[in-house]
Amino acid sequence: MKYTLKRILEKPFLHSKNNIVTQKKLNSRLEDKLQYAIRIIEYIDLGFVRCSYPDFKIIYMNQKSCNYIQKSYLKAELPSYFIGKNYIDYLPIDEKAKLIMEIENMIQKKDDSVFRHANYIIQGEETFFKIMYRPLFELNDQVKEITIIYIDVTEEMKAKNKIEKTIKMRDELFVNVSHELKTPLNVIFSTNQLIEFYLRNDLFKDNKEKVFSGVSIIKKNCYKLTKLINNIIDSSKIDCGFLKLNLSNENIVEIVEDSIQSVTEHIKSKGINIVFDTNTEEKIIACDAEKIERIILNLISNAIKFTNKDGYIFVNLIDKGNTVEISVEDTGIGIDKKNLDRIFERFHQVDKSLSRNTEGSGIGLALVKSLVEMHGGKISADSNFDKGSVFKIELPAKTVEETESTVQTKPIDNKNDMINIEFSDI
Ligand code: ADP
Repeated sequence: MKYTLKRILEKPFLHSKNNIVTQKKLNSRLEDKLQYAIRIIEYIDLGFVRCSYPDFKIIYMNQKSCNYIQKSYLKAELPSYFIGKNYIDYLPIDEKAKLIMEIENMIQKKDDSVFRHANYIIQGEETFFKIMYRPLFELNDQVKEITIIYIDVTEEMKAKNKIEKTIKMRDELFVNVSHELKTPLNVIFSTNQLIEFYLRNDLFKDNKEKVFSGVSIIKKNCYKLTKLINNIIDSSKIDCGFLKLNLSNENIVEIVEDSIQSVTEHIKSKGINIVFDTNTEEKIIACDAEKIERIILNLISNAIKFTNKDGYIFVNLIDKGNTVEISVEDTGIGIDKKNLDRIFERFHQVDKSLSRNTEGSGIGLALVKSLVEMHGGKISADSNFDKGSVFKIELPAKTVEETESTVQTKPIDNKNDMINIEFSDI
């Protein structure tokens, strides 16, 4: 199917029932139709350019394409400025020759159109285009004109990129999780084999210490597995909107202080010091106490993981009136700036060669961020590589009518279990 401008515009007249029209009337109707078509093209949400062929001189362009073509030009010119200019001059250097060749090919094969994809930065935003080049064949099959249509496909590309990112993240999850599952399972199996050997060969009494240590290794690795599985389940629940907060008015100072106290001995046993400071004794806010404890324990466990012996962990709580700021700071290995923005992304882990810790699934901080955001709060991180890191949480100081509280998830009954789970990978 070939198109000529004349054929397109005349078509309705030639098929009209009342076909007796004078040439003058026909011309005037044609002119009306042309004006109407131009008006549509002006307002349409597509960039539209007409070029003569083969010299690519611009005959017409609408405002949209004018904006697209000027992407990198500081001076905003009107479409009239481009009339008579060479369209090819406005293309990126590496695209020119390829496009001309593709258009020549298309005309030779008498194809309808050729498509190209491009992305330009327009007003600071990355914009993706599908660009259609369509020849306008004359009756003798000659081409004197090319129509170029810019279709903005930014939204589609963003959606596609998001899907690709999600798929990549899922793949990473399988790789990470299978490794994280396998390691503790292997430890459990081999320790179990050793204990079994002692029992079967009546060596239990002589190796009592080793057996006890083996039992404790098995327990620790069971906690590790529980943490990983809990984190995966909770992340999925958050994604599906199934994880709800059990809000009640609580003294946030007490929750934070209690969480720290419950792990102080553990931290000291690692040769690390922990200091808690606050500018208030009581601040009642609506929160889910169990989730807040989990957030604090998670941040402290990371701080321990990346802090050397004799290092410090400072936990500060500041009552700022409408908000409460809780910060967990450490004097550990720090996080390099290029990774700082990404540590809250799920499955993102800092290059393992940069951290002495080789474990972790990269779910912890993403989960912490989600839990903070579910409270209407924000979390941020700052760090000096080799000097330490600070994680700051800002929670709104709002209260709820007690009846509003949503008893949903059953909190972990045994606080020790929660600590053992959160600290299982240290
Ligand atoms: P994981 O469960 O693997 O530890 P997280 O989401 O808790 O994952 O952390 C993501 C990354 O952030 C980790 O790979 C770690 O390298 C880095 N990180 C988190 N907290 C700290 C910290 N306090 N100091 C240095 N690096 C940290």
